[in-house]
Amino acid sequence: MAKKKARVRLVDTTFRDAQQSLLGGYLRTEEIVPIAAKMDSLGFAAMEAFGGATFETQLVIHEDPWEFLRKLNKATPNTPIQALVRGQNLVSKRNFADDVVELFVKHAAKNGVDVFRVFDPLNDLRNMEASIAAALKAKKRVQGALSYAISPAHNLELWGSMAKGLVNMGCHEIVIKDTSGLLSPQATWELVTTLKQAVKVPIDVHSHCSSGMAPMSYMAAVEAGAEVLDVAMSPLAWGASQPAAESVVAALEGGEYDTGLDLSKMWEVQQDVEELKQRHIEHLSPVADRVDASILRYHMPGFMLEDIYHQLGAHNAADRLDDVLDEANRVRKDLGYPPLVAPIRQMIATQAVYNVIGGDRYATVTQELKDYLQGLYGRPPVPADHELRRLVLGREEPITLRPADLLEPQVEAARQQVRKLGFEPTDDMVLIHLMFPQLAPAYMRGPQPEKKDGERPVAISAAPPAEQPAPVAPPDPPLPPSQAAEFDVEVDGEVFKVRVTGTGVAVMPATGAPTTAGNAAAPRPKTGEGAVIAPMQGLIVKVPVKVGDAVKLGDVVAVLEAMKMQNDIVTTVAGKVSAVYVKEGEVVSPNQPLLAIA
Ligand code: MN
Repeated sequence: MAKKKARVRLVDTTFRDAQQSLLGGYLRTEEIVPIAAKMDSLGFAAMEAFGGATFETQLVIHEDPWEFLRKLNKATPNTPIQALVRGQNLVSKRNFADDVVELFVKHAAKNGVDVFRVFDPLNDLRNMEASIAAALKAKKRVQGALSYAISPAHNLELWGSMAKGLVNMGCHEIVIKDTSGLLSPQATWELVTTLKQAVKVPIDVHSHCSSGMAPMSYMAAVEAGAEVLDVAMSPLAWGASQPAAESVVAALEGGEYDTGLDLSKMWEVQQDVEELKQRHIEHLSPVADRVDASILRYHMPGFMLEDIYHQLGAHNAADRLDDVLDEANRVRKDLGYPPLVAPIRQMIATQAVYNVIGGDRYATVTQELKDYLQGLYGRPPVPADHELRRLVLGREEPITLRPADLLEPQVEAARQQVRKLGFEPTDDMVLIHLMFPQLAPAYMRGPQPEKKDGERPVAISAAPPAEQPAPVAPPDPPLPPSQAAEFDVEVDGEVFKVRVTGTGVAVMPATGAPTTAGNAAAPRPKTGEGAVIAPMQGLIVKVPVKVGDAVKLGDVVAVLEAMKMQNDIVTTVAGKVSAVYVKEGEVVSPNQPLLAIA
């Protein structure tokens, strides 16, 4: 059959989003590169294979992300490599100064990235400026991605104006990035139609099959004029991943949306990817490998619902589900309707649980929520509730400038730090030190012997929250496995909770424990005069006081990480610290005394 001119291009996500969504990102360089080499001739517009959460996961499993990129680039001379970059956070979870953004993008471009897909969880274009500018400076292709959301604040006019903003910033394509399969065919059609009217550049639709609607939405997308669709090779497609490449090629073949790809050339690669999946079958999340209709029922991302079930279970309060779901919608409204994308989605879920279980709305708030209200994550589509801001921030005014404008340059200090640690401060090394200081020491020590099959690598992020300057202090050593019970693998907005079996430790709030961290005015149960106790189970990430220090009411005496949230533990008595019972890196139980104040 004579092929028509291809009208729809396909981006393959097998080795980034797809493997991250289904297998937790555990594929190794030597497993990916030979298959990618075969895929190079298939005709994909690009292969998304770098950035997002894979960078961190590679470090966790002692793979070198930069070396991977170089090898992949060599093996795929015909297919551009695409990277996912979370604006000012790059591939990490906190804001970096512009000099770090520039170095990271330049280094990635130099080592093989041809297309940069830039997004921001709040769609705050200011958070995307520096990455986009750096990619343009490196003479690479740039996609501006819109984090898809459904809310009263997200109307077609807003999407259109954001797309225009991104094109004005120099983006070559606009991506509708639907991290959890919320896009319906009708919404897709309306949105693509709007964007086609607003901008002249190609539109790419990226969705996940989580709710089951994605293949239908893709059809609506091309009918409305979208030029690019994101797909994955079928063994790593469906479920929480993208629609299958083979299915989309076959579905569009022969018509005006023909992809130009030749199905008969795809079977060998499909077989290889199938074998790869079987080899990693123990990493396949059963939650991710299905259609989750509760997304359609509750209009929330599947991973947010999982998070809420999980937290309610930990509180023995599964019967409060409806209350918490209603409350999550109220909290989201209070926060100015942010997209339900990581890390804000987790923030809302946690706050909704606190608000319902605690009985008193916002009596307890996390540090992340305070930072959010202060504007350190950026601007939500509409301003956060004024009363809530007053309640949480008191007299403090939220910032109005771009969050990264608060940061001084960071690259030089990081270079010196790496040198001080006794290593050559190459760009590879310095960037890893900046992105994941807690994982850098293992990286610097060089390749490790491979872990036994079935043994899951473990990491608890001890990094400061998103808005702090990147640490240049000596990195913490990785936690011993006995203390690290669970870790999150993030997939461009979706977080998988991975629990290590056999330890019995979970970084979760304990059953019925009052959660009072983060708010100086909140009451706290006491086990004895002057004892500061853990309000919930969690990981002590910081004890900023020592024996003999004078503390006053409301001072932060410990920082406890639970459910990836850092909670300030404050003292409700004034006096002198007479004893410190816990160390940084220790996992504590609810009501466990942390320190004593005399
Ligand atoms: Mn995705």
